[in-house]
Amino acid sequence: MFSEFSHRPVEVLFSRRAHAAICAETLEHHPLETGGILLGHLHQQRWQVLEAIDPGPAARCTATTFEYDRDYVNHLARKLAAQYRQPLQLIGLWHRHPGSFDQFSGEDDITNRRFAAMNYGGALSCLVNLDPHFRLTAFHVPTDLDYQRLPVVVGDALIESSLRTPLCAADLTGERLDDAVQGRELQELFSRLPRERAPIQRSLAEALDPLLEQLEQQPRWRYGLRACGHCLQLGLIEKLGVGRELWEFALSRNHQVIAWRDDGMRLSAAQFSRYRMEVADAH
Ligand SMILES: [Zn+2]
Repeated sequence: MFSEFSHRPVEVLFSRRAHAAICAETLEHHPLETGGILLGHLHQQRWQVLEAIDPGPAARCTATTFEYDRDYVNHLARKLAAQYRQPLQLIGLWHRHPGSFDQFSGEDDITNRRFAAMNYGGALSCLVNLDPHFRLTAFHVPTDLDYQRLPVVVGDALIESSLRTPLCAADLTGERLDDAVQGRELQELFSRLPRERAPIQRSLAEALDPLLEQLEQQPRWRYGLRACGHCLQLGLIEKLGVGRELWEFALSRNHQVIAWRDDGMRLSAAQFSRYRMEVADAH
């Protein structure tokens, strides 16, 4: 029988580099609060932390609070994640607390909940105290915030070797280079209609299910999706042609899926399927 508890992580493994980054950041801002985000993987019931990112040059640190320099953190997270053969994921966060306070505040709960909601496996949240020696306390954060304290181990050899392998020149294969070009083209497409990313509305997700299945099966387009709450953006790149299209899907007042192209063209879901996804069952 499925037991959620048996799937919970049992410990946290820090690379020496990630742990050193936390120590250096704590030292630099002492006695003020600081923190950052953690990159790595949840693998074999262990949080494996490869990199820890500082909050950035424009971060605001006080004795009891700090705020990230978001642009810096997002930029550096993307750069560091891509330096590994298996790109790192955003798995959690850490921050310093004053004195010996090693519990989460109400505000911490809100942040932890946000991080836990981003991944199926929840998140990792760590607290640092200097009382007076450096002390790091790690918590597994499930979406219901039933915090679970985890033992912490520092050492590169303990981390799964396939996860800590850096990207190398031989990894730049033709296929990967094509992916990179198309990834950039998708970003350019999405920049035509800038929107905040947000989890997609459940009713819209359900209504779009058949269309997404159809997208998977058709051979004509490569595609990318961006969830923006009440709408889903779809970037289409024609594999053997020059077609590049940006669509947005949303629900009309009577709960029908409507598709808009960025040049103003408007189709119903059925029309979109017919005209854009036509190739899949042509025989
Ligand atoms: Zn806190």
